[in-house]
Amino acid sequence: MANERAGLKVWLDGKYLDYNEARVPILTHSLQYGSGIFEGIRAYETDKGAAIFRLDEHIKRLANSMKIYSMKLTYSEAQIKKAIVGTVKINRLSSCYIRPFAFINDDKIGLSAYGKRVSLYIAAVPFGKYFAGAAKGIRCKIASWDRINSNILPVEAKASGNYLNSVITNTEARMAGFDEAILLSYDGYVAEGPGENIFIVRDNKLLTPNNSSDILLGVTRDSVMKLAEDIGIEVVERLLHKEELYTADEVFFAGTAAELTPIINIDGIVIGKGKIGPVTKILSQAYDDVVHGKKEEFMNWLTYVKV
Ligand code: PMP
Repeated sequence: MANERAGLKVWLDGKYLDYNEARVPILTHSLQYGSGIFEGIRAYETDKGAAIFRLDEHIKRLANSMKIYSMKLTYSEAQIKKAIVGTVKINRLSSCYIRPFAFINDDKIGLSAYGKRVSLYIAAVPFGKYFAGAAKGIRCKIASWDRINSNILPVEAKASGNYLNSVITNTEARMAGFDEAILLSYDGYVAEGPGENIFIVRDNKLLTPNNSSDILLGVTRDSVMKLAEDIGIEVVERLLHKEELYTADEVFFAGTAAELTPIINIDGIVIGKGKIGPVTKILSQAYDDVVHGKKEEFMNWLTYVKV
């Protein structure tokens, strides 16, 4: 993997370094205890070169996640924005995945993060589809583990430690021959995928778990809801029962990496007609148009790299 990344530059605390030269000590706090805060952002090719999708919203979530953990933001949001744009630019990337990662840069033994130095790196790498079977739709398994809940950890923070909940449920699903997991909340309602929010379509209405479902409030989720409203599709945010997934006309995941991925089978039960449905198709097309700069009214969601 390291060789595949050779030639890429990474931004680390204000400096651009070769990917293979950007190193941290193996005892780094965030490696031991999962104390990293990160973002996942995409850029897409447009008529005017690469454009980063909803960069301000991702930076705001990064700042909020850090605030929740009392990690001091070493750089202003404007500086982070400049560094992210700069990282895409210096690597001459167009379609790519961008990973800012704030971490406790300390390798003393001990879990206290209080007052410790916080560093930030930004990596950007070429990236295609997250799910190999995205075009045809994927098969999911309801996880046997619940989604972490906010009595235990702040679910709205995009913190590395939360992702053990994602890793174990994804592994469980993959081991059982499925493509991905779907997690229920501690209260038994539908929450989300390990790295994706979830939507169902019923009678041409779009439904998605609300903020009481212990979800990460996804930027793609927000974009899909706004696009649906723009198209004239009614959107309802509420608690969703697991069985509403099985009986939905359509189900799809939404996330920066996953984009809009149709789910055609859950726990062996065929969803709708077992293929990508019409509402998913319309919304996927709208999303694709927006990220590629083809929808005038949503141009303010794009940050162009070459300006
Ligand atoms: N939920 C989880 C747990 C995630 O990791 C992600 C990916 N960041 C999402 C939802 C979707 O969020 P976004 O649309 O902001 O990528």
